[in-house]
Order: sequence, then C-alpha cells, then structure tokens
Amino acid sequence: MLVSATKMLNDAVKGKYAVGQFNINNLEWTKAILNTAQENNSPVILGVSEGAGKYMTGYKTVAAMVSAMIEELNITVPVALHLDHGTYDGCYKCIEAGFSSVMFDGSHFPIDENVEKTSELVKACHEKGISIEAEVGSIGGEEDGVVGAGEIADPNECKKIADLGVDFLAAGIGNIHGKYPDNWQGLDFDALAKTKELIGDLPLVLHGGTGIPADMIKKAISLGVAKINVNTECQLYFQEATRKYIEEGKDLQGKGFDPRKLLAPGYEAIKVIVKEKMELFGSVNKA
Ligand SMILES: [Zn+2]
Repeated sequence: MLVSATKMLNDAVKGKYAVGQFNINNLEWTKAILNTAQENNSPVILGVSEGAGKYMTGYKTVAAMVSAMIEELNITVPVALHLDHGTYDGCYKCIEAGFSSVMFDGSHFPIDENVEKTSELVKACHEKGISIEAEVGSIGGEEDGVVGAGEIADPNECKKIADLGVDFLAAGIGNIHGKYPDNWQGLDFDALAKTKELIGDLPLVLHGGTGIPADMIKKAISLGVAKINVNTECQLYFQEATRKYIEEGKDLQGKGFDPRKLLAPGYEAIKVIVKEKMELFGSVNKA
C-alpha cells in the first residue's frame, strides 16, 4: 500500500538519516527500486517527473503499476509515490490519479504567487492525506529542460513557505541537477543551517543527489536534510551496464536479444546504486 511521505520523513529527522527519492522511468526501474527497498528494510520514495509520467502514458498508469507491483512483490516497507517538480495542474492530476505525495515547484514564480499556489495545494493534498513538498528559489542544473545555476534559497522565504503547512521543503543550497561541473563550489552549509534554524523540525529536501561527495551528504543530513533525490545516477548505472552487455556481444549470443535478458544488467545495476545510497543515507533497517 502506498503511504504519504510525511511520517517516514519526520521519523528520518528524528533518527538523523535521510530517505532516498529514486526517480522511475519504467517497469524495470520501479521493480529494481522496490525490491532493493524491501531487501534492505528501508522506506523509499518513488519520484515521477512530469516528463516520466508522460513517457509512462500518464499518472494513472504509473499509480496503477506501482500499487499493483507493491502487492504482487509483497512489498511491506513504506513506499510513497511522489510527483517530482510538479506544475500546478500536474499536482491536481496526481492527486486524482492516486499518488500519495506531490511536489509543487513554484520556485520560478514570484514569492507571493508561490505562496498563494502552494497554500491552495497544501489544502487539496491534506484533505486526501497526501503529503506535499514545496520549493523555494531555484536549484541549479537541468530538470526537464529548465536550467538554473546552483542558487541559494533565501532562508526567510523558506520560512514563509514552511509556514504554509507543507510537509517538507526543498531549498537550494548550491546543489545542482544532473552531473556536477568540475568547478562546483560545494553545498552551502551556512545557508542550510540558517534555514534549519528558522524552520525547526520540518524535513528538508536535497535535490540533485547525484555526485555530491559522501561527506557533504552526511553533513547535510546532520543539518536537517531528510530526503535526498537521486535520478541521474540510476540512469548512468543503467546505461553503463547496458552498454557493456552489448559491447561484449551478449545480445548476439543465444537468446541474448530477449528484452528480459537485454535489460537485466541495467536492472541489477540500478539495484546496486540504490542499495549504496540507502546505506549512505542511513535508511537501511528504518522501515
Ligand atoms: Zn529536483
């Protein structure tokens, strides 16, 4: 059964660990992440970008697939199905489709408009027991074609959005989506500490989890980050394993062309990286 992400993230704040959000793209991705969460007794958040939702033919398909898979695979750890960087309309569609959590990304709106739309969506979500993440300021890099530059959110604006009753908050602290550039400055822990001081125990979300060094991840968790989004890293692991399979000519041997064989190395690779992240984030055995 799907659950909202509120309790798992409040527990994470108390226990000083973080729950991974791993973005899904298809059946193999979903199966790999759910099985790894179960094997490691870890809570997990499945992220779905609007682009991935469209790719999978729509949010209803995604919600039905994930719910059925939880049942068929006997998954008993807490699983949240979460819209990643949702638009205003996208959030309403996911609320209707059976998602258990949404992120409304109003970070590109002026702060007053972000406040207005976020507070409306907080009500709509909470009426249905769905958790909601909001975002302040822009996080750098590329998310479905939107480019930013490692921005830092204003702690006072974070407080303003936090006070609307959101369940967890994404605040830019120099993190970037996608691969980090060689000249990256690192996370801004002063900004993180200031925001934490103003918002108290509200779980903070770190986007762009791919390529942030382990010591920075651990420090961020110690300063109140309770949800870390990982997307690109799973894609890179999948790609590398699939490339190796084909380069070694395995698709040309016997029934190596069978998609269930062709996609198997990528599936196993996703499981490896997801397990690594769960260990790093400290969510193993926290289900
Ligand atoms: Zn993000």
